[in-house]
Amino acid sequence: MNVNGKARWTCRTHVSKVAVNDALEIAPLSNLPVIKDLVTDMSDFFDKWSRARGQFSGSRSRHDDFARVSPESAQRKAADAGIECIGCGVCYSSCDVVTWRPDYLGPAALNRAWTLVNDERDTQTLERLRAVAGDAGCHSCHTQATCTERCPKHLSPTAGIAGLKRMTMKAAREGDL
Ligand code: SF4
Ligand code: SF4
Repeated sequence: MNVNGKARWTCRTHVSKVAVNDALEIAPLSNLPVIKDLVTDMSDFFDKWSRARGQFSGSRSRHDDFARVSPESAQRKAADAGIECIGCGVCYSSCDVVTWRPDYLGPAALNRAWTLVNDERDTQTLERLRAVAGDAGCHSCHTQATCTERCPKHLSPTAGIAGLKRMTMKAAREGDL
């Protein structure tokens, strides 16, 4: 929810760190429809994960051996850096572009897409790049990093979105998009 005007992971944030003049003003998360009091409807937020193809799609079955991905590979490191998202919506609520154009996929869904395009086991990279390359996708991000500043898990959706911009531009230059 919003605390003194900023989105916070409230169940893990100490009051002493966010109180201003010993006062707290509590409000529901921004950029989401309010159901009642502090409760917001997060359907759009998670629908956008789906629109950004946020589902893993592999090629192996339960009968195959485990995939082995080196922890030292650049792709694995990029995926690991964004994987601990808890879906709290703090970044989404803090993003001005979501406010300005509600169809924008937003930082959390794009961060999820970034972890998957770096997952060497996934088979849907091109489809995912197509899903995030449109008008409401990664190129709408203004890179001011409010999402990154506020993320309680210290992730950087901004960096992931910048990576998606590079990958979609490269795919477009190569005629794949
Ligand atoms: S950096 Fe991009 S995703 Fe993050 S708050 Fe700004 S516009 Fe939104
Ligand atoms: S990226 Fe960070 S702020 Fe955004 S939903 Fe995930 S954990 Fe929350």
